[in-house]
Amino acid sequence: MIGIIGGGLAGLSAAYYLQQKGYQVRVFEGAEEVGGLAASYETKGDSIEKFYHHLSKSEETIVELAEELGIGSKVEWKIGKNAYYVDGEIFPLDTPWEILRYPHLTLYDKMRLTLLTLGIDARGIFPKIGAYEDLEDFEHIPVEDFVREHTTNNIFDKFITPLLEAKFGKYKHRVSAAWLLGRIKFRGQRNLLKGEILGYINGGFVELIDTLIEEIGQENIITGAFVEQIIVKNGKVESMVIDTKKGKIIEEVDAVIVATMPSVLENLTGYECPIQFQGAVCALMSYSEQITETYWLNISDESRFGAIIEHTNFIHPRRYGGEHLVYMVSYIQDFEESIWKMTDEEIEEYWIEGVEELISSFDRKKINWFKVSRNPLTAPIYEMGYIDKIIPYDISKEVGEGIYYAGMASKAQYPERSLNGAIEAGRACADLIIERKRD
Ligand SMILES: Cc1cc2nc3c(=O)[nH]c(=O)nc-3n(C[C@H](O)[C@H](O)[C@H](O)COP(=O)(O)OP(=O)(O)OC[C@H]3O[C@@H](n4cnc5c(N)ncnc54)[C@H](O)[C@@H]3O)c2cc1C
Repeated sequence: MIGIIGGGLAGLSAAYYLQQKGYQVRVFEGAEEVGGLAASYETKGDSIEKFYHHLSKSEETIVELAEELGIGSKVEWKIGKNAYYVDGEIFPLDTPWEILRYPHLTLYDKMRLTLLTLGIDARGIFPKIGAYEDLEDFEHIPVEDFVREHTTNNIFDKFITPLLEAKFGKYKHRVSAAWLLGRIKFRGQRNLLKGEILGYINGGFVELIDTLIEEIGQENIITGAFVEQIIVKNGKVESMVIDTKKGKIIEEVDAVIVATMPSVLENLTGYECPIQFQGAVCALMSYSEQITETYWLNISDESRFGAIIEHTNFIHPRRYGGEHLVYMVSYIQDFEESIWKMTDEEIEEYWIEGVEELISSFDRKKINWFKVSRNPLTAPIYEMGYIDKIIPYDISKEVGEGIYYAGMASKAQYPERSLNGAIEAGRACADLIIERKRD
């Protein structure tokens, strides 16, 4: 039996791919529900993720998996409208004319930014096409130095800084140019006349999770089962100690896939991963009407959260029984930050006041409900030298034969952690186990 630790998308995908090849698998999930960071709330209509989620057009593995599971027709691609909130005003930034009209960058800034996104190095007399292909060349260059040198100071100060602050807070100076360039490639698919193309699954990502559960078989997924120990004998994994609702059990295993955060891997095996993670506080508010016309509102002014994500400007509110669903999010780099220490009720009040400050037409009487989710480990800080810290899928040599890693510190989760990355990591570990057996 192959033991899989963690019932997020990485663990469920690993189980699915192995089972397809005839392996006996068992997934152990510490929480009462599977899904991990992709878990959902109920609404009057479809379910909705507790933390905002969408797909980028460059992500293929999740689409292939959906097709294989017979739910490929539920994958939908739509325009996710982006805007910047600056000096009390919302500026849409999707179409060429909206970008041209944007007053906080000059025409020259916009041209340099466009060239960067096209991979053209415009310094010097002859522009270099394909200049940013090899990300490793930019791994040790701070994003700030890179942007200032390859574009303009104004682009860094007015355009990139608010994004970095929202995403990495006080660690923004440590982030590498490789991360930015990787993200441009990852997110870069646009409809030139309309804006960025983003994906979703009709019914929510819970559809994918539920279909995986059905395929794997509920009997092979044990929830409320917290893996406490991996036992290695003579250099080879032998069994796991699991704390379940019925008490502690020992399960013999032929191999183990650890599909969790690296801190869990370290507790179980001693493997130390130097990647630093950040937490997140994410609120979802149901409101009785549309608040803005934007899906993703970056906020350049001082504000109480990093972004407002109006999900129902991406997916129609009729799917949620007419409710308008709006996320607010803050990433947490320091657990002494006041927002992390607030109760859910305090966050609710603080963030509602925050929306009132930004959007004058907002009326708190129109709020139907407000829910807060938080998690201390939600995303890596993609700092310089990150690539060297990635945990390999096969860690047999480091911790014991038959132990694999598919969590968020794996290669598939760079330059952006994602559902697609989780599935790729799960599949990579499954493939390695299958190959090893064949040899
Ligand atoms: C705010 C936010 C926004 C995001 N936005 C997007 C987005 O727009 N698009 C996108 O594609 N992705 C997005 N993501 C990322 C995506 O959710 C993750 O990459 C993905 O869900 C990670 O899956 P995973 O299986 O690797 O890990 P997780 O979902 O963290 O699953 C790990 C599981 O392991 C369990 N576990 C831990 N320790 C043990 C133990 N000892 N024993 C048993 N079980 C254990 C945990 O309970 C958990 O269920 C977002 C995430 C967050 C937090």
